[in-house]
Amino acid sequence: MSPKEVIALAKAKDVKIVDLKFSDIHGSWQHFSIPVAELSEGLFENGLGFDGSSIRGWKAVEASDMLVMPDSSTAWVDPFVEATTLSLVCDIEDPITREPYDRSPRGVAKKAEEYLRSTGIADTAYFGPEAEFFVFDDVRYNVTSNESFYAVDSAEGEWNTGKEEFPNLGHKIRHKEGYLPAPPADRLMDLRNEMVLTMMELGLKIEAQHHEVSTGGQCEIDLRYDTMLRMGDMMMTYKYVVKNVAHRFGKSATFMPKPIYGDNGSGMHTHQSLWKDGKPLMAGDGYANLSQEGLWYIGGLLKHAPALCAICNPTNNSYKRLVPGYEAPVILSYSARNRSAICRIPTYSSAPGAIRVEFRCPDPSANPYLAFSALMMAGLDGIENEIDPGEPMHRNLYDLPPEESSELPCLPDSLRLSLEALRNDHEFLLKGDVFTTDFINNYLEMKMGEYDAIRLRPHPYEYSMYYDI
Ligand code: GLU
Ligand code: MG
Ligand code: MG
Repeated sequence: MSPKEVIALAKAKDVKIVDLKFSDIHGSWQHFSIPVAELSEGLFENGLGFDGSSIRGWKAVEASDMLVMPDSSTAWVDPFVEATTLSLVCDIEDPITREPYDRSPRGVAKKAEEYLRSTGIADTAYFGPEAEFFVFDDVRYNVTSNESFYAVDSAEGEWNTGKEEFPNLGHKIRHKEGYLPAPPADRLMDLRNEMVLTMMELGLKIEAQHHEVSTGGQCEIDLRYDTMLRMGDMMMTYKYVVKNVAHRFGKSATFMPKPIYGDNGSGMHTHQSLWKDGKPLMAGDGYANLSQEGLWYIGGLLKHAPALCAICNPTNNSYKRLVPGYEAPVILSYSARNRSAICRIPTYSSAPGAIRVEFRCPDPSANPYLAFSALMMAGLDGIENEIDPGEPMHRNLYDLPPEESSELPCLPDSLRLSLEALRNDHEFLLKGDVFTTDFINNYLEMKMGEYDAIRLRPHPYEYSMYYDI
């Protein structure tokens, strides 16, 4: 949609308000609104000023003036606002230099797409994220119990302890058996349908929706793959719709990776493929129908995985998900089919266009623009440096005896370790100025602050373990 078409749309829909949205470093939308009379072609050229100093991790107060630059291709009418409101996703520019702001995540994704084209290796990167989430009625701490965290979940309507109930007269989902019983066990069907229909209204392409493994109201809605920047925009919209529809149903949705102890967490497995001149670059006659480039791409992902975790698993809570036994990856390896490996090559179809790599590490607390950009930069680094991924791993990595698993390279088990990995390994992100040194340093500082925010606080479960010691 061009600026002219957006203005025509606003007229046709009798729009009253225009809402300008942009992603902060954490991947949360920030927004402010203007009356529709302010919508003009000039707005798309000259942008609109705002104070960038109050946005977490952005400018210092002495250099705070910034511009939002609406992208006309992102327009939709916001279904969650009462006055008819046109929504526009924006880029961020410096008003003096008129350069894109290097800490704007959407700008990073744009530069990543440009860098891909500049290498001549491929011209298009497709991303297909599978973001899982939980729907709760209420969440609370219970500091005295043996379990660190309890939640009241929508599917059960009462305390979820992760324990079985006999007899199960209330059609409750059994522990870790939430995938895929039909209603009445699946009580969130109507809620997910409403989410799907709203997403489709906003232009998202949906492939499927289902309850997920966790008993505690865990859900997944799968988007059809698309190019990186567009998929970044779509994931932002996805989260907006999930949270707002849940809110309208009197519930609360969270993308926190591990809300319930002892049950599955939420991942954002990310399917990736590169294409050149309309042909799939990862398809070939090697292992699992991969090409040499496909194998090198995996080599890059595996080599940089610890550093990637800092961006793809960017919260303290992320590392409570990356533990054995819950379908989340723990050991650096790749495999066709095997879901305990960090890179899986899906084997649903051997058609060249369907060949892709599923990176299972990311979780939905990641900023999608940053995560997709970093993943592609790691894969490209693999191709550029012909990084051999080694042999695939076919065994269930959760069941390896300790003497074998301790020999294998593991993912970092805390935010601090992944930040250290990123500090030591980020040259591959700086190519083409996709991520700048300023971005990385600022990010490390922000995230170390987050690490400390948890490290410095006594945890409720410590009372159970140590109070009477
Ligand atoms: N919830 C699992 C995770 O944390 C993934 C389940 C699945 O295979 O979809 O990654
Ligand atoms: Mg899933
Ligand atoms: Mg998956």
